[in-house]
Amino acid sequence: MFCDIVAGKIPATVVNKTDRTLAFRDINPQAATHVLVVPTEHHEDAGVLAAADPGLLAEVLTAGVEVARAEGIVETGYRFVFNTGPDAGRTVFHAHLHVLGGEQLGLFGRLGR
Ligand SMILES: [Zn+2]
Repeated sequence: MFCDIVAGKIPATVVNKTDRTLAFRDINPQAATHVLVVPTEHHEDAGVLAAADPGLLAEVLTAGVEVARAEGIVETGYRFVFNTGPDAGRTVFHAHLHVLGGEQLGLFGRLGR
C-alpha cells in the first residue's frame, strides 16, 4: 500500500519529500498532527530497515524531525512510533514512522491505560 503511495498510484497529502523518504498525513489521524514517514524503498518493518540500511533509517528519523519543525510542534513536543506485529496493531507491512503531536498525547502501552 505505501509502495503504491510512493509510486503515486494512491493519492496522499504529502507534507515532506526527500530523495529517499516520503511523508504524508495519516488518513485516520490519532492526534492533531499525525504524519507518516516512509522510506521510498520497500522494507518490511523498522527492524528490517535498520539491518538492511541504517543510513536510510536515520533519513526517515531526520525527515520526521523536519515534519515536526514544519508542523510547528518541535517546542510543544511530539512522539515517534514504529509499530511491529499484531500486538502493536500493525496493518501495513512497509516500514513507517508515525509522527504524533499538536496536542497533549495520551499514555501508551497496555490497553486501557
Ligand atoms: Zn512497500
